[in-house]
Amino acid sequence: MDWKIPLADLDYDEAEEQAVLEVLRGRWLTMGAQTQAFEAEFARLVGAKYALAVSNATVALHLAALALDIGPGDEVIVPSLTFVATANAVLYTGADVRFADVIGLHDLTIDPADIERCITPRTKALSVVHYGGYACQMPQILEIAARHGLAVIEDAAHAPGAYLDGKHLGIWGDVGCFSFFSNKNLSTGEGGMVVTNREDVAERVRILRSHGMTSLTWDRHRGHAYTYDVTALGYNYRIDEIRAALGLVQLRKLTANNARRGEITHQYWAALDGLGLELPFRAARGAPSYHIFPMLLPHGVDRQAFMEKMKAARIQTSIHYPPIHTFTFYRQRYSQQAVPQALPLTEDIASREVTLPLYPGMSDEMVAEVVAAVKDALR
Ligand SMILES: *Cc1c(COP(=O)(O)O)cnc(C)c1O
Repeated sequence: MDWKIPLADLDYDEAEEQAVLEVLRGRWLTMGAQTQAFEAEFARLVGAKYALAVSNATVALHLAALALDIGPGDEVIVPSLTFVATANAVLYTGADVRFADVIGLHDLTIDPADIERCITPRTKALSVVHYGGYACQMPQILEIAARHGLAVIEDAAHAPGAYLDGKHLGIWGDVGCFSFFSNKNLSTGEGGMVVTNREDVAERVRILRSHGMTSLTWDRHRGHAYTYDVTALGYNYRIDEIRAALGLVQLRKLTANNARRGEITHQYWAALDGLGLELPFRAARGAPSYHIFPMLLPHGVDRQAFMEKMKAARIQTSIHYPPIHTFTFYRQRYSQQAVPQALPLTEDIASREVTLPLYPGMSDEMVAEVVAAVKDALR
């Protein structure tokens, strides 16, 4: 499909091309100086003691769960209104998920009160998602976690450059996971980062991301080690130097790009007011990263027809998200037990949500064009 305005677009230029060329000419392709620099600069951005780059955010979430000793017999409470990887990563460990509902039509993040209703004697952790780069209610969530002795994972896939009360998202809980997939705010194609202030978690992630080995090819190349031991059942979840170099360039563009995403979001909010649409997060906490622009169609509007009309105007739209508890695999696995009560808000939101194009390269004229198409499609 030849979109006039796609849902998302990269901000790549000669700087990314140059960075990749330098890696190729340097003849060291995986987990070396670029990766170390990317980790150091990302750690500085979020204010974390430790940042460990990995292949993608799905494996970051898997490693986070393993590092917190989550496994068979444990339960982790997650939202259902998220990308499926949030829950899949828990299941990889042999643990189970329980789905909590979101706060409301104005706030699509996990509801602390519903978290509390989902807690059982098996609950070991919470994995909360900063939907769209808008902060979850972290103070309330951390208070519940402390009261019940639960660990907290932050799925911060949408949230590089996002803050709550001046503190970067991803370091409020025990461990935070970021995604650098092509359509995310910081893009390396595939890529992810685990951040934590806990030394034990960092050490465990470091070992598990590279086969459980005690030294790296890079250490041996530099003459720092001759051999290695294997101390755990690890994985190959490494990043490579090409992606780390892309990440370093993208990191330099992040603040300006998030600011532009914010301008576009505020333009949408102003222009779409009064049309009967729900516009979540208008009273957002903190400084969001404005990863996507979600809106809810009025009850009774045919979403499929709406999206078809947008498509006819060559404007791409999407849905965030088909809820996880409705997928065949999860329905078969859990029938009733993981849904102790219905998820009425999640189901209502998921049936009406449409995501509009949002990326830093969108001009004001393009935003106006999307708004005009929305008004047409609603008529
Ligand atoms: C993109 C995304 C992921 C997975 O990220 P990958 O890097 O593609 O593995 C996980 N959670 C959320 C909320 C996401 O949007």
